[in-house]
Amino acid sequence: MNAATGARGATSAYASRSFWLETCGDDLSPRPALDGSIDVDVAILGAGYTGLWTAYYLLKREPSLRVAILERRIAGFGASGRNGGWVSSKLNISLDAVARMYGREKAQALQRALYDTVNEIGRVCSEEHIDAGFSRVGALFVARFPYQLPMMREYASMFDRFGFGDRQEILEASEANRRVRVRGALAAWYCPQYGRVHPARLARGLARAVERLGGRIHEETEVTDVVPGRRPVLRTPRGDARARAIVLAGEAYLARLRGLRRSVLPVYSLIVLTEPLGEGAWAEIGWRGRECLASFRVSIDYLTRTEDGRILFGGRGAPYRFASAIADAYDRDQKTHEMLRRLTRDWFPCLKNARFTHAWGGPLGMPRDWMPSVSYDRGSGIASARGYTGHGVGASNLAGRALADLLAGQTTPLTGLPIVGHRSPAWEPEPLRWLGVRYVQRSFARMDEEGEKTGRAPTGHTLAERLSRH
Ligand SMILES: Cc1cc2nc3c(=O)[nH]c(=O)nc-3n(C[C@H](O)[C@H](O)[C@H](O)COP(=O)(O)OP(=O)(O)OC[C@H]3O[C@@H](n4cnc5c(N)ncnc54)[C@H](O)[C@@H]3O)c2cc1C
Repeated sequence: MNAATGARGATSAYASRSFWLETCGDDLSPRPALDGSIDVDVAILGAGYTGLWTAYYLLKREPSLRVAILERRIAGFGASGRNGGWVSSKLNISLDAVARMYGREKAQALQRALYDTVNEIGRVCSEEHIDAGFSRVGALFVARFPYQLPMMREYASMFDRFGFGDRQEILEASEANRRVRVRGALAAWYCPQYGRVHPARLARGLARAVERLGGRIHEETEVTDVVPGRRPVLRTPRGDARARAIVLAGEAYLARLRGLRRSVLPVYSLIVLTEPLGEGAWAEIGWRGRECLASFRVSIDYLTRTEDGRILFGGRGAPYRFASAIADAYDRDQKTHEMLRRLTRDWFPCLKNARFTHAWGGPLGMPRDWMPSVSYDRGSGIASARGYTGHGVGASNLAGRALADLLAGQTTPLTGLPIVGHRSPAWEPEPLRWLGVRYVQRSFARMDEEGEKTGRAPTGHTLAERLSRH
């Protein structure tokens, strides 16, 4: 195979990982791999949002810094090039849970920082001319069944209790339906502070911004080992990157590295996408505000209206694989993808004959307590940010800024956030982990089925809920 054919082959293989990579308009041929050892100030594992935002803020702060990113595939190959495109202003862990660990004020500070993060991403996109389609569209969480109503009220009352009542609104069924006609909508929770992006254009645009600032990105360069020390090292088969500090920004994939196997659980989130819908369907559905859209399903759903008039429907039904295995083949799970197509038609009955053109997925990183963490240990020279539990489009920007402050040795409001220095407990060893996670996954799906049938909300006291408490 000649080099040109090889590059084209790799490009189309990368484009096939998601609709977003396919339509990002960027040349996906890999950048040159690391070829020989290098000595830099900061070496970063992973060119997803976390690695790229960290590099971006480091270089903005100190343009002379030598920053290298080593990426196993290409920038945006991981969750950053495949997600639902929501710039979420919340985490998966509740404010109550954060307050139980760190107190009310820290929980409030974290929430305020997350709200600000949505604007920060929009600001950088505009300053760096990253054409990621950023727009502050807000989010609508619809209660579609009676069992979801108490969950919605509890959610809203939590934000109220923490003093964020003015950042949300409960919409009656008529107002919810005026915005988007979802079958069965009984009410909705609305938050204006959510944004939307084309995920891969954000990742690829950020990579170019980092290069413009002088950062180097080596693609198709797999880190096989991490050696802590005074000059810590990222080892690869084709040379070492030695640095003053190493940043581990591999999210779900960190579970493959020695010493980190139980730090995050790779959870597969899967997505289906319709063809561009005609005007008739859009007249029926509405959704002119293009809000991020979801319900209060325990087993998670999320919907996006794309710029070219398709509906993206995502969910987390795919089974956890033994020993935290990650493989390209797991991005497609026929049963889960079929369930997502069924759900799309259930939400919008007018789509009963619509064609679905794409189906993909990818692993996201979930720590045992669902709380992201950002850390830098000067002794070992190792820094890390991880564990966004499916909310990393916004949170990785916040983490990148906090990491840049930590690496610069500065104490700032960001370094005082409760995610900084947080230590999540390790996941259980196998086979306990597989048994527990599969049990919880199945129980969550059953809770939704039961709720739909009986109208009763989850009690919070079942074994599955206690096992997954966070
Ligand atoms: C299907 C799906 C939908 C999602 N939807 C949303 C959403 O709508 N909103 C939201 O906020 N979040 C969402 N998420 C989560 C969000 O995408 C992630 O939290 C975020 O992208 C994490 O960014 P990251 O850079 O930390 O990780 P990643 O984007 O996964 O990047 C890690 C990178 O590290 C590289 N890497 C791994 N191991 C090595 C190694 N040994 N050597 C070199 N490189 C390595 C990988 O190839 C990868 O490119 C979703 C995730 C998925 C999978």
